[in-house]
Amino acid sequence: MTSIDTPQSSFEGLDISPVVLKALIEIGYEAPSPIQAQSIPHLMAGRDIIGQAQTGTGKTAAFALPILSRLDLTRRIPQTLVLTPTRELAIQVAEAFQSYARYLDGFHILPVYGGQGMQTQLRQLARGVHVIVGTPGRVMDHLRRGTLSLDHLTTLVLDEADEMLRMGFVEDVEWILEHTPSSRQIALFSATMPGVIRKIAERHLNEPAEIKIKAKTATVEAISQHYWAVSGMQKLDALTRILDAENFDGMIIFVRTKTETVELAEKLEARGYEAAALNGDMSQVLREKVIERLKKGALDIVVATDVAARGLDVERITHVVNYDIPYDTEAYVHRIGRTGRAGRTGKAILFVAPRERRMLRAIEQATKQPIKEMRLPTLQDIADRRIEQFRTQVNEALSNENLDFYVELMEQWVKDDMGEPVKLAAALSFLMHRDRPLAVPDEPEFPSHGRREYGERTYPDRMDRTDRREGRERGRDFNKVLYSIDVGREHGVQPRDIVGALANEGGISARQIGQIRLYDSYSTVELPSDLPDDFFAAVRKTWVLNQRLNLQRTEGANAGGGRRPPYRGNNSHDDANDAGRPPARRRPRREGFAPE
Ligand code: AMP
Repeated sequence: MTSIDTPQSSFEGLDISPVVLKALIEIGYEAPSPIQAQSIPHLMAGRDIIGQAQTGTGKTAAFALPILSRLDLTRRIPQTLVLTPTRELAIQVAEAFQSYARYLDGFHILPVYGGQGMQTQLRQLARGVHVIVGTPGRVMDHLRRGTLSLDHLTTLVLDEADEMLRMGFVEDVEWILEHTPSSRQIALFSATMPGVIRKIAERHLNEPAEIKIKAKTATVEAISQHYWAVSGMQKLDALTRILDAENFDGMIIFVRTKTETVELAEKLEARGYEAAALNGDMSQVLREKVIERLKKGALDIVVATDVAARGLDVERITHVVNYDIPYDTEAYVHRIGRTGRAGRTGKAILFVAPRERRMLRAIEQATKQPIKEMRLPTLQDIADRRIEQFRTQVNEALSNENLDFYVELMEQWVKDDMGEPVKLAAALSFLMHRDRPLAVPDEPEFPSHGRREYGERTYPDRMDRTDRREGRERGRDFNKVLYSIDVGREHGVQPRDIVGALANEGGISARQIGQIRLYDSYSTVELPSDLPDDFFAAVRKTWVLNQRLNLQRTEGANAGGGRRPPYRGNNSHDDANDAGRPPARRRPRREGFAPE
C-alpha cells in the first residue's frame, strides 16, 4: 500500500491542466477534498488506485479531473470508460465531467444506460466520443454488437464498485474488464471493500495505490447534534425556518463552494437576515473584518467554506449548520468544533439528502454520538416564539420606559371615543406587525405542486436577458402552455440544459420550446399544447443537474399571457411566513412602524 505523505492543499499543486483549473475556479471549488488530494497525483502519474470513498467525498472529481487533464482531444475514440451501478449515477457523473470540461473545446462524453433509446446512443457513438459513462449491462450490449470498442481505452473507472456487486453486476464488470487493453489504468472506488471487490482488484489492478480517508474519532460532548433529512422542502426554506425558530447568538453555515457562500449569504439577505460570506477568495483584511463583526455581535450569520473557517474561534457561535454535508468525518468534527467553545454548549445541525445517509452513519461512528433527527419548526412554533418576544418587549417597555407622554395620548384618545383601551392596544399591535403579522394564517392551498410545503417562498428575481431572447427566437408559432420544472438557478441550471434535456429525452425540437424562465428553486418553460403522451413519459424519467424534472402544468396558466411565474403561494401566505421572523435579525423596513 502506498500513500501520499503530504497531500496537496491546492488544486494548483496537483498538475491538472490549466483549462480544467479554469473551470474549477469558475465553479468555485476552493481546495481539493481529502480523496481528491490523495488520488489525483497517482491518477495523473498513470497509476491504478483503490479509493475507499463514498458519495459526498468528492470522488467524482477525484477521477474526472485527472482523466480530463490527460485526455487526447484530437482522438475522438473512447479513451475512458466509467462504469456505474445506476443510470442516475451515470448521468450525474457525465454532468460532473461536462462541468469540469466546459473549456475543453470539442470534448464529447456519452452516458449509456438501459431504458434509453438505442438509436441516439448509436448515432453519438458513431460520431465519436472521448468518454463513456454507463451501466454494465448497456455497455456490454454495445461491446457485443460491435458498436463500441474499448481497444484504445486508457482509463477505466469502477464507480461505487460495492453497489455494482450488490446489484449483481460483478460478472458483467469482469467481462468488460477482459475486453479492455491490459495497459489501461484502473481507478476503483467503493464505499466498502468486501472480499469479492478485493479479488477483482487483485486480479485486474496493477500495484494499486490504496487511498482511504481515515475516520478519526473525536469527542464533541459539549455539542448537541441534529440532522434534518432533506425532502420536499427546499434546503433554503428549511434553513430560514431554523433561523426563525432557533435561539442563536452567532451561527456559521457551511457550504461547499466559494460561489455558494456568496449566493447563500445573498439569498439570506434578500429574505431579511443579515449574513456575510467568508471564503478563501476574500482578502485577509476582508475576512478579518467579517470575523470581527461576528465577534462583536454586529453580525450573527456567516456562510463559510471549510478552508475559510479553519481555526475560527468565536465564543458567541452557538450554532453550526452543515447546509452541505462535509466530505469526511474529520471535516465534520472540525466544522462543529466552531461552536461549544470556551466551556459553552453548542448545537450542530446537518442537512442530509437521501444519498448522503451513509456519511451520516460514518459521522455518528466517528463522533461516537447519536445524531438526532430533527423536526422542522412549524409556523405555529415560529409564531409562538414571536408572540413571546413581543410580550417580553412590551413588558420591558412597561417597566423601564417613561411612558407618560403616551399614557396622556391614549387617555385623550379614549376620551375622544376612538375605542376601548383594549381595542386601541390591538390596533397599535396590528400597526407594529403590519408587515409581518403575528398570527398564523390558515393553511393556504397550493394548487399544482403537491411537493411544496407550506412556508416555502420563491423569489422570482432577475431573469437573464439571453433567456428572453432565446425564448423569443424559439417557439413563436404554436399554442403554448406553461409548465414548471423542479430545477432552478440554485441548482446551477442554464436554459440550454433545459432545452437539451427536453429535446433529447422528449424527442422534440428546440424550436418547439418557448420561453424559459429561471427562478431560484424551479423554472418555467413554455411548450406546445398538443405534445404526445410519449413526450411526457420520456421526460418523467429525466434528471437534470441531479434534479428530477417533475414537469408539471402550472395552474390555469396560459403561457401566452404575462410574465408572472406559476402560482406558488399567495401574498398573505408570504406575509404570514414572515410572521415568524425575530425582529432583531431583520433589517428594518422603510415602511415599518417606527415612532419618529
Ligand atoms: P461526489 O462525492 O463526487 O458525489 O461529490 C459531492 C459534491 O461535492 C458534488 O456536488 C461536487 O460538486 C462537490 N465537490 C467535489 N469536490 C469539491 C471541492 N473540491 N470543493 C467543493 N465542492 C466539491
